[in-house]
Amino acid sequence: MSLGAPVLRFAPSPNGRLHLGHAYSALLNADLAARMGGVCRLRIEDIDPQRSKPALIDAIFADLAWLGLHYPEPVRRQSDHMGDYRAARDDLIDRRLAYPCFCSRGQIRALAEAGKATACDPDGAPLYPGTCRSLDPARVAENLARGEPHTWRLDMTAALRCTGPDQGYVAFDATGAQRIAADPARWGDAVIARRDVPTSYHLAVVHDDAAEGISHVVRGRDLEAASDLHVLLQKLLGLPTPHYRHHPLLLDAGGEKLAKSRGSQSLADLREAGVTPRRIRMQLGFV
Ligand SMILES: [Zn+2]
Repeated sequence: MSLGAPVLRFAPSPNGRLHLGHAYSALLNADLAARMGGVCRLRIEDIDPQRSKPALIDAIFADLAWLGLHYPEPVRRQSDHMGDYRAARDDLIDRRLAYPCFCSRGQIRALAEAGKATACDPDGAPLYPGTCRSLDPARVAENLARGEPHTWRLDMTAALRCTGPDQGYVAFDATGAQRIAADPARWGDAVIARRDVPTSYHLAVVHDDAAEGISHVVRGRDLEAASDLHVLLQKLLGLPTPHYRHHPLLLDAGGEKLAKSRGSQSLADLREAGVTPRRIRMQLGFV
């Protein structure tokens, strides 16, 4: 942990309007930063060129300002830093810790269905069986030269050999801090760079947390398992590991996680309906 004031971040993706779940995470980060005498930065996680929309970035700024949240400039946009992610990816490739995977999603699903392996990663996707890990190097070179679409996958076994098996991080909450053991192997050979961009969520977030000097990562429990992979990537790339806190997710009346796709009301909807920022803060326990 670096010396100096704590640095937190709120890092939404501009692929939908912010809802109450985002408001809770943003307010919690701001509240904790204030209590710890630190700052909270805003980061726009827009690596997805299909789903990220400029109008939605403007809407994020407007919604957060409406809630009374203001952030230091400059606000980092991940789409401005693809070169940095590419360099981190290439570092892992050069060290033979990542390999190209030419399988389509459908092929991977079919492999999982046909095979005996029923194991899934923590997100519920079938674990990649490692088909492309042992492809003939000449064939790989040929595929790459031909521009065959591919992702880049972390060679989990090689990665754990490189870092050693002991993985973990410090988790903190209101009652204190404790060491948590991490198990990155449950992600298998995770994708570190997608077909369309030279990074994945995991690689970009790990790079950015270090680049922005983030000391405390406060995010939803839906990302708790991802932290296991993140601490491994930090070790591989020689980056510091922040302290982590994974907060409960806000659920709708049916007990489901709030999501635009399930018709959860956006902050803009609530504002339209005459709900005040103060009422939202009270509802979420921040007044
Ligand atoms: Zn493959």
